[in-house]
Amino acid sequence: MNDLEEFIIEHIRETQPLSIAEYMHFALSHADHGYYMTRDPFGVQGDFITAPEISQMFGEMLGLWAAVVWQGMGSPEKVNLVELGPGRGTLMSDMLRAGSAAPGFGDAVQVHMVETSPPLKTLQQQALEEIDLAHPAQWHGAFDDVPDGPVIVIANEFFDALPIEQYFHAGDYWCPRVVDIKPDGDGLCFVLLPPFDAPELPPGLLDVPPDTMVEVCPAGLDIVENVARRIVAQGGAALIIDYGHGESGTGDTLQAVKGHDHHHPLVDPGEADLTAHVDFGALGQRVFASGARAQGVVGQGAFLNRLGLRERADSLMAQATPEQAEDITGAVKRLTDATEMGELFKVMAITRIDAPPPPGFE
Ligand code: SAH
Repeated sequence: MNDLEEFIIEHIRETQPLSIAEYMHFALSHADHGYYMTRDPFGVQGDFITAPEISQMFGEMLGLWAAVVWQGMGSPEKVNLVELGPGRGTLMSDMLRAGSAAPGFGDAVQVHMVETSPPLKTLQQQALEEIDLAHPAQWHGAFDDVPDGPVIVIANEFFDALPIEQYFHAGDYWCPRVVDIKPDGDGLCFVLLPPFDAPELPPGLLDVPPDTMVEVCPAGLDIVENVARRIVAQGGAALIIDYGHGESGTGDTLQAVKGHDHHHPLVDPGEADLTAHVDFGALGQRVFASGARAQGVVGQGAFLNRLGLRERADSLMAQATPEQAEDITGAVKRLTDATEMGELFKVMAITRIDAPPPPGFE
């Protein structure tokens, strides 16, 4: 049993079973033992690999997207370019390199990184040191701390890392699923709590058939609301890329990944990545309820192709060695193919209610 598991068991003994969200919060963000707080999880040596780590082309397309959105805003003299959960900083640095092709964009951009992990913040600082920034980048623990002004917000594989709650629909009532101590005291297990009336669920989830599990991500809904309100009040747009479903669905999607393999979510807490499918349907409803427009959802493959990923790949291939050419072809396939990330990963944009669809959503 690791230290975090001991801590969680002690905590449950002293209080009560943990909601799934409380458990995820401890496993991912506990200050001393949380998964993201203690390591760099990305890449071949790590536990999983994300799109920006697959190829620079991903960040380049998003950088062009941001520059075109900025032009569509009337090229304001200052814009806050915000990334939520920036990982190693790879995406932001690729975006800035590509975006600086648009005259004036580099000077207008004020970079804001929203990150809770100390080791990842250090990696992000190193990544941005290599970029010639007009204004020094700033780090914040939460989106709300980003100073006033128009925003362009990017979030890749951020929302899937936010804590979810699960409820089992048992027909006439709902049972919260929680994490408790195993009867023999040796480890953690899932249990259903006695029923109570319908919890506060997004509208799309209230009519699900009996015997199904539903999931809600309160933290994700709150953040998307804050981003939407900021866009309504001060202008800008946001881009959310993640794996999940376009319409609210049912089923247990909580999963743990360690060393590129599936892992039991309650075993070795803090040592495996824990995620859940993003419910874009619920996020979209909250965006709309906040007075903004949710554009999409579009599959990642279609989105990147519309932004010109293949043309970019062709131009890189023209100067590539045969080995590099193979890498580029492999990356295009991985990012866009329907059997890989092309459809499971989805893209939603947030704009003002009267704004035309941004690039990739036409
Ligand atoms: N966007 C990156 C990393 C995705 S992993 C990429 O595509 O490679 C999730 C990221 O979100 C990590 O940087 C993690 O430390 C950060 N994170 C997780 N929970 C967070 C929270 N509540 N607030 C801010 N950052 C968070």
